[in-house]
Amino acid sequence: MIIWDGSRRLLKGNLHLHTTFSDGRAAPEDAMEMYYQAGYDFLAITDHRKVSVKSTKYKSLTVIQGIEFDFNLPGQVMHIVGVGPKEGVAEAVERFFSPQRAIDEINKAGGCAILAHPAWSMNTPAVISSLCGLTAAEIYNTVSGLPWNADRADSSSILDVCGANGTILNFVASDDAHFYNGDQCQSYIMLACEENDEESIKAALRKGDFYATQGPKFEKIEFDGETMRVWTSPANAIVFFSDLPWMAGRSKCGEGLTYAEMKIQPGLRMRYMRVMLIDENGRRAWSNPIIPEETPK
Ligand SMILES: [Zn+2]
Ligand SMILES: [Zn+2]
Repeated sequence: MIIWDGSRRLLKGNLHLHTTFSDGRAAPEDAMEMYYQAGYDFLAITDHRKVSVKSTKYKSLTVIQGIEFDFNLPGQVMHIVGVGPKEGVAEAVERFFSPQRAIDEINKAGGCAILAHPAWSMNTPAVISSLCGLTAAEIYNTVSGLPWNADRADSSSILDVCGANGTILNFVASDDAHFYNGDQCQSYIMLACEENDEESIKAALRKGDFYATQGPKFEKIEFDGETMRVWTSPANAIVFFSDLPWMAGRSKCGEGLTYAEMKIQPGLRMRYMRVMLIDENGRRAWSNPIIPEETPK
């Protein structure tokens, strides 16, 4: 079965960004222009605790209204991004509510709820696994990395622990741009979507029809029930992850690699599998997990 087909119409988008309406340094129009110039097709504006900009079209860029809720929990914080909820969602969520309530209100308002930067927030797998109704989690968040923050941009380890414990989430990469100095136009998703409008984008997000990246591309991913086959843009590493601590031959390293495959060893009872690329500049891409038991052959 073809899991991902990169020859379809793909839209490039960033789902997390702050403007001068909260703690970002760029006005909304300047943010839109920067992403438009960088070849993006869509952008969600997600200021803290408010829907600051209404959904609109800026040139060819689909701008989606959004919000980011934040909560203080014992030993950690939790931030939930809402992409495309209707107006009124900000007023529906108080700061003493639970993150689950924010997810529920975002979904009720027609938005997609995304767990933001779990590594930066120091989220534990137990707390993440208690949530339901998430469309995705940020496997990578640009501004959580260097030089703007501690080196905690990459949440892949914690999300694998969640997956191994039964909470298998799809992954986005987002900038969380504040326009400090270069934290914009770095990490994004490539979404398979025929129409570049808000409702089609949200539907494709909910379907999980995307991958996360800093530049490398997935051309095609196939899975026949036994073997995962991956065709990519030139990479120096193609790495297969799963809920299992050990799998034979899970990493393929070299120069200019464009294909790798991973056969599930019989009897391993793997819960999920995903693949990551690293290109010659160290930039990464992350596929969504596939669940062998639920994947038609
Ligand atoms: Zn945040
Ligand atoms: Zn943010």
